Amino acid sequence: MMKFHISTFGCQMNEHDTEKIIWVLEKIGYQQTNNRNEADIIIFNTCAVRKTAEDRAFGQLGELQDLKRKNPDLIIAVCGCLMQKEEIRDYFLSKHKHIDIVFGTNNIHKLPQLIDRHLRTGDKVIDVIEDTREISDNIDSNRKYSYKAFVDIMYGCNNFCSYCIVPYTRGRERSRSVKSIINEVENLAQTGCKEITLLGQNVNSYGKTLEEKTTFSQLLALLNKIEGIERIRFMTSHPKDFSDELIEAYKSLDKLCNHLHLPVQSGSNRILKLMNRNYTKEQYLERIYKLREEIPDIAITTDIIVGFPGETEEDFEETLDLIKKAKFDSAFTFLYSIREGTNAAKMTNQIPDEIKHDRFQRLLDVLYPIGLESNKRLIKTVQKVLVEEISKNDENILSGRTECNKLVHFKGSRDIIGQIVDVEITNVKTFTLEGRMV
Ligand code: SF4
Repeated sequence: MMKFHISTFGCQMNEHDTEKIIWVLEKIGYQQTNNRNEADIIIFNTCAVRKTAEDRAFGQLGELQDLKRKNPDLIIAVCGCLMQKEEIRDYFLSKHKHIDIVFGTNNIHKLPQLIDRHLRTGDKVIDVIEDTREISDNIDSNRKYSYKAFVDIMYGCNNFCSYCIVPYTRGRERSRSVKSIINEVENLAQTGCKEITLLGQNVNSYGKTLEEKTTFSQLLALLNKIEGIERIRFMTSHPKDFSDELIEAYKSLDKLCNHLHLPVQSGSNRILKLMNRNYTKEQYLERIYKLREEIPDIAITTDIIVGFPGETEEDFEETLDLIKKAKFDSAFTFLYSIREGTNAAKMTNQIPDEIKHDRFQRLLDVLYPIGLESNKRLIKTVQKVLVEEISKNDENILSGRTECNKLVHFKGSRDIIGQIVDVEITNVKTFTLEGRMV
C-alpha cells in the first residue's frame, strides 16, 4: 500500500484543497501518514499570498533532498497557488531538481493520473491549468472533523488588490451552482456535520457568474433551511460589497453565526486607494457601526497590513484610529511583503524593515487590550460551544468555539466532542476564554 504525507501552507482554501487531495488519494487506496520518513509520496500544498509562506515551502523542499537520496523511489509532488505562477514554478523546479510532479489548484482531481504517468515513465510530470472557467464538482474531501466542514462556494477573484497575487494564481471569479452547493451541504448534514464554513475569496460576489442570478444572502437563506446543519460561517467578505441584505441575513437567519471577518487592511484612505480596495475608512466604519447597531453581540475580526509601500506615520496613525473606532475582537496582522507580479511590487517607496517592525508592535499594543475588553464582556455569560477537541496538554480539558468564533477551554470528557454544549465563561485572556459546562 502506498503511503502519502502532505504539508499544507496558507489559508483555509488550501486546507480545504488538502482535504480534497486526501480524498482523491484515499479513493485509490493510498494511506495517509504523519511521518515523512515512511511516505512513498510527499506532497507540498503551497501558498503564494505571503513571501514567508513561499520561503518556508522552498526551504522545506530543500530538506527533502536527503530523503530522496536515501530513497530514490520517493515521489515528491508540489501543488497549490505557488505552482500556478510560471516564474515561481520554473524557479522551484530549477533549484529543486528532486521535484517529480507539479500540479495546480484547478486539477487536483487528476492527481492519480499524474502519479501513474510518473510511475510508468519516470518522467517529471507538470500539469497546471493556468486559467479556467471550469469547476470540478465531482471531487469530495476527506474532512478532518466529522462535525464541521469547509464548503467552496466560489473560486478566484476579480478584485486585483494591488498587493495580492490571488487573481493571478486562482484565476477569475466563478461561482458553484446553488444546486451543487445544496447537494453537498445536505450530504454533509446526513453524515453528522453540524457546522459549515462557506469559502470564497469574496463571498459577497457569489452568484454574479451564474446564469440564474442568486445573491450570497439568498444562498445563505437556502442553506439555513437544511436540517441537521446548526451553524453557518463564511470567509471572506470584501467591505466594498458588504450589503444591507447581508446585515438583514444576520438578523433573520438563526443558523448564521454572529461573527464577521471583514478585512480592512488599512485605515488610511490614501493607502486604501493605492491598495485598490475601493472603499474609504469612513465607508468601512459606517458598515461596522450599522452591523453593531443591528446585531449588538456580533464579533468582528479583520486583516491589517503594516508597511504597505509609501505608508507614512500619518497613514499608520489612521489605521490605529480605525482599530480604536471599530473595536475589533481580533485581527490577523501582517507585515507587507513584496509579491512579484503584483502592482505594489513595482512601487519604489518600500518601507524599511525596522519601521515595519516598530509599527507592527505598536499595532498589537492597540489591538490586544481592545480584544481583551471584548472578551471580558463575555464573563458570566453562557455560550453555546461546539466541542472540537481535547487539549494537547491536558486530556481533561476540551476546546471548542462559541457562535462568535472565540476559542473556549473547559473541563469535560472526550465523548462530547462534536456536540454543542452550554458553557459559562469564567475567565478570559486576550485570545482565549475559560469556562465550565452548565
Ligand atoms: S479581494 Fe483582494 S486581497 Fe482578497 S483575494 Fe481578491 S485581490 Fe486578493
